[in-house]
Formats: sequence, structure tokens, C-alpha cells
Amino acid sequence: MIYGCTNQECLWFGEGDALPQACPHCGHPVEERREESLTGDEWCRLGLFWAEAEPPQEERTLECFRRSAGLGSGWGTCNLGLCMEQGIGTQPDPRQAVWLYKQAVEMGSVAALCNLGVCLEQGIGTPQDPGGAAAMYLAAAEHGSARGQRLLAHCFEEGVGVEQDQAKAVEWLRTAALQGEASGQTALARHYEFGIGTDQDPELAVRWYEKAVQGGDPDGMCCLGWLKQTGKWVDPDPAGAVELYHRAAQMGSLRGMVQLGDCLMEGAGLPADPALAVEWYRKAAKEGDREAMFSLGLSYELGQGVAQDYTQAAHWYQQSAQLGSAAGMNNFAELLAKGRGVAQDLDKAMEWYKKAADLGNVYALYNLGWYLEQAGDLSKARDCYEKAKDQGMGSAYWSLGRMYEEGRGADQDPKQAYTLYREGAKKGNVNCICRLVRCLANGLGTQKDLPRASKLGAELLAEELSPQVLDNYGCRDELVMLLDVLNDMNE
Ligand SMILES: [Zn+2]
Repeated sequence: MIYGCTNQECLWFGEGDALPQACPHCGHPVEERREESLTGDEWCRLGLFWAEAEPPQEERTLECFRRSAGLGSGWGTCNLGLCMEQGIGTQPDPRQAVWLYKQAVEMGSVAALCNLGVCLEQGIGTPQDPGGAAAMYLAAAEHGSARGQRLLAHCFEEGVGVEQDQAKAVEWLRTAALQGEASGQTALARHYEFGIGTDQDPELAVRWYEKAVQGGDPDGMCCLGWLKQTGKWVDPDPAGAVELYHRAAQMGSLRGMVQLGDCLMEGAGLPADPALAVEWYRKAAKEGDREAMFSLGLSYELGQGVAQDYTQAAHWYQQSAQLGSAAGMNNFAELLAKGRGVAQDLDKAMEWYKKAADLGNVYALYNLGWYLEQAGDLSKARDCYEKAKDQGMGSAYWSLGRMYEEGRGADQDPKQAYTLYREGAKKGNVNCICRLVRCLANGLGTQKDLPRASKLGAELLAEELSPQVLDNYGCRDELVMLLDVLNDMNE
């Protein structure tokens, strides 16, 4: 039996064995409707009822949209296209979907303009055509579609089919956000957070993230969660952050899963539970998230929340590297260079280091320098070290210092070496501290200062050094040297 709500503001439709007491949406009376009397749009409402049913009835959904389209409803035709695109109640047929979207556009469906735009942008069922996609979004945006406005803004952000123009992106996002489009609100807040295409504005950023969260946008939950976790512009609230990540993760947000995993790994905002952290990483990694793949690889490499396993680590690093994660590239290269969990292959390692360094990964830049130095290419090595030092990386101070101290790849200059070690030591770099102690003990590049040397040396040896620090290039040798220096001083 088909029935419809009698409230003209509601127009809910349903189907079942018996007439419900009242409309579940608005409480108004419902009346039985005969199939023959249904309009195209009413068939579409009935299709949506079945699409949203628990569990969804795909075949009946498709049937309703077909009837709707047959009666000339643009809305129903657009939804029939969506069934074809996503394979709801039928095998996916993207070309048929595109054809239906075009028909629906002719019937005045603004939603179909957006769907058609997405097909053109991504090359679904039709050749890829960024310019055509942007034109569809613009038409939808100008018809007042909030989704169209957000999609058009994304074109301006990324330069898809239009000149990149962040200010225009902000304008369209503002329009979409004011209409209550939650993911548009998140995107707008991000512009305010980072000052892209508009002035940075903490107050507006927080306010729009909060609205987006109210609207149920998982991305917004991750962004607002991050502010709460770090205390940026809001009162620090690690537990509140965890709550938001958890909500986002349960809605299927991969970023939410990774951030929740990080909190569980570190015990931030809730008790640490590395094994559960790994489970969230694994879930997101299986969905193809490269950050999750990297975190999963790291868990295996360090044996956190899971048994230590270099083979698994190499597998997940490689996956994330292939999807463009610079951190994944660097760590995969490390395993290749050291032959851990994968056959040693320095050439391949160098390729991955280079790719990661080009993406701005400072560790990869440094590591690239290290292997160039080992291969005797000192000037290129020094170049890498200099760039890594400019980004504040502690190990780069040590390696450059060695070059100045030994006159390899640079003119010998003990003063310069001492300065570099001192700077690197301030950053907590263990290798630099070892060398600094030796400079002070021997008067290299600075005044001899035995009391300070033995104090610094003793402090370092009293620290418990993590396996990761001890695994740094040259660290064990430096510590052996430090012990010799301290022994000599005591004699
Ligand atoms: Zn109703």
C-alpha cells in the first residue's frame, strides 16, 4: 500500500502493509494513494523512502525512480542516473548515467548539473573535461545550489577548468556556507584558519568549524578536533578532540580514524591503547588512506601495538609511498637502504629519497645527503645538508660540522664546526652533543672548558636514549667517542 502525507509542506511518501497512524516526519495524517494517481515527483519521493529504508530496498528504489523519470520528473531522472552511476539495484552503467543526467538537466534539475559536473571532472562515463565541469558547477551555483557553489569553489581552489583564484573560492564558499552546506562551511573555515584567499581570522574559522560540526560534517569534526587537541585558538580540550575524531571515524572519515589512532597511540585525551590505535590505522589503510598506511608501517617498524615486523613495515611504507606520502617514501627508502624487511637496494632507496625530498621532506633530504657523502659526492651532499639545516634539522648541523671539522667537502674551519655543533646540541641532537663535548675537552674551535665538557657529557650519558635515536646515522660511533673523551679527561 502506498501512502502520502497530507501536509503540503512535508509531502512524505511511504509504502507498507498498513496505513501508518501519522506521518513519521511531521505527525500529520497520511492518506492512501493509488499508483495510477502518483505524479513523477511523487514516485521520486517514494524512491527516496526505499533508498533510505533500513535495509535499503535497491530494486524497489530503482523501480520508483524509473516510474518517476517515465513521467517526466527531472528530479527522478537525476536519481535514476545516480542509480546507474553507483549501481543501485542494477549493474553500474556510467555512460547511461551521464545520458540521464543530461536529460535531467533539460528537465530543469539543478542537482543533475552537479552530478554531470562530477562525471566530467573525474571522467566517469564520459571523457574528462575540467572546463565543462566548471561550467556545470557555475550554472548550478548561479541557480542557488549550495553543493554547486562548493564544487565551483573547489575548482577555483585547485585551478580545475578555471584559473586558480582563492579569493573567488572564498566568495562561493561563503555563499554555500550561509545556505547551511556543512562541507562548504568546513572548507570556508579552512580558508580563514590558514589565511588563503582571505585574511586569517581565528574567530571566523572556529565559528564556521563549529557550524559544520553541528551540520554533521566529518571533515569539520577532524579540523575542530585538531584545534581542541592543540589548543590553537580554543581552550585545549584533548578529550573533546577525541570525541570529535571518534564521531568522524564512525561516519567513515579516514582522517578521523587516523587522528583517533594517533590519540590512542600517544594516550592524548584518553588512556593509551596502541593495539586499538593499530586497528583504526588498519581500517583506514584498507580504505586506501596513505597517512594510515604510513602510521601502520611505523607501528610495525617500532613494534607499537603490534609485534615488530620489518616485512610488514616495508609493505605499508611502500603502499603509502606509491600513493604520494613523502614520509612513506622516506621510511621505505630507509628500509631499502638498510635491507630491512626488503632486499637491500641503494639505487631504489636513492630514488625514493629524491622523490620525498622534492616533496619537501627534510629527513629524506638529509638521508639523501648522507648516502651522497658515503658515495663520495661531497658537494652534492653538502648542498643537501645545508638545505636540511636551514629547515632546522639537528642531524644536518652535525654532518655539516663534520665537514668543517675534517675539511671534507668544505674548507677546514674548527670555529664554524664548533658553532654548528653548539646549535645542533641546542636542538637536542645527540651526535652534536657528543662533538660539542669533544670540542670543549680539546679546545677545538673554542676555548678549552673541561668542567663544562664533563658536565655535558655526564648529562647525556645519564639520559635513556631511545632505540630510534641510537639508530641515527653515526650515533653509536659518536657515543663510543664520547666515552673515550670522558675517560681521557678523568685520567
Ligand atoms: Zn508529513
